Amino acid sequence: MKIRMNLKKTFIVTAMAVTSIISAQTGGKFKVCLDAGHGAHDFGASYHGFVEKKITLDIVLKLGKILEQDPSIDVIYTRNNDTFIDLVERANIANRANANIFVSVHCNANKNTEAYGSETFVMGLSKSKSSLDVAMKENNVISLEDNYKSKYAGYNPNAPEALISATIAQEEYFEQSIELASRIQDNLEEKLNRKNRGVAQAPFMVLHKAFMPRVLIETGFISNPTEGAYLNSEEGQINMAKTIADAIFRMKAEHFGGSVPVLDIKKSEKPAPKDTTVKTPVKVVPVKDTPKTKVVKPELKAVNAAKVIYKVQIKASASQIDAKPENFNGLDKISSVLEKGYYKFMYGETNEYETSKAFLAEAKEKGYDSAFIVAFKNGIKISLNEALKTN
Ligand SMILES: [Zn+2]
Repeated sequence: MKIRMNLKKTFIVTAMAVTSIISAQTGGKFKVCLDAGHGAHDFGASYHGFVEKKITLDIVLKLGKILEQDPSIDVIYTRNNDTFIDLVERANIANRANANIFVSVHCNANKNTEAYGSETFVMGLSKSKSSLDVAMKENNVISLEDNYKSKYAGYNPNAPEALISATIAQEEYFEQSIELASRIQDNLEEKLNRKNRGVAQAPFMVLHKAFMPRVLIETGFISNPTEGAYLNSEEGQINMAKTIADAIFRMKAEHFGGSVPVLDIKKSEKPAPKDTTVKTPVKVVPVKDTPKTKVVKPELKAVNAAKVIYKVQIKASASQIDAKPENFNGLDKISSVLEKGYYKFMYGETNEYETSKAFLAEAKEKGYDSAFIVAFKNGIKISLNEALKTN
């Protein structure tokens, strides 16, 4: 009996450790590290006179100003002017400051100038060509750095998929990274009317080296004339900044405490931009050109509630969603948990870790690129690390 009690206590402590990562290591203030992509001779993308390094800095400075109005927030900038900072140094600035979260701001670009919309990335491996292309473009900065060959020891910026996958320890940050990314994307769609291209995983060097919940926002496509003009405008930037700030305030309130100030966000126009001079039917990405491997549907077995249960988290949202297959790309057996005012939606359930991997493959096949495995014991979420030791 005593042993059981202790075990239960261990689980609760573990679950608490998982949910309080964000609040760990701080001297009372919530530290947000803001990273304006590119700088100096690294212009980033440049289209129609819109320059990525300038737009990212403008948005980040506006975003920082809003966050700084909260005395319980410390803002750390990787750059606050037009300077060049290595990707690894950007991550190290956040690491040295013990930042609670790291937010890297970028603009997307594509040869197809009709492509538009916002997308937020978390660190991870990806098989999606479009995600890998974005990571490759952003990682390419490395070749502009001094001594990059020795500094990144064997890393080839043209093959970002070679980046080592996150360790189990980093998976703890992964969940909150996904939560932050989802909050940002939900906000961009609902509060700002931007096209939501979703949350995805991709191997970004700047995220790889930072050890805290971290995201990289591709705010929009400056290659699209309309979206580029919006991102380049004062109105676009201030509202983009408010929208991201709102997501950060909410993340902080959930995990660290404090209130969420009411920000007056002006919605952008909908329908989202389309170049009216183009007569051919518009074909918008996402490009799903990964070769379809046949996913074997996992066998259904009764789940023993007394043992560790594995599920696949596919989505997080501020609002409840009906567990109908049509709401989840055709997936059934959807369950949800409400964690600190935030809904996590999960697919499948099994006592076997190996089976949960098959569920994960199925979820990814259905388009949930950033899905991941979560574990529960006695209804309490535990870390994967703990689950694998327990089973
Ligand atoms: Zn960029």
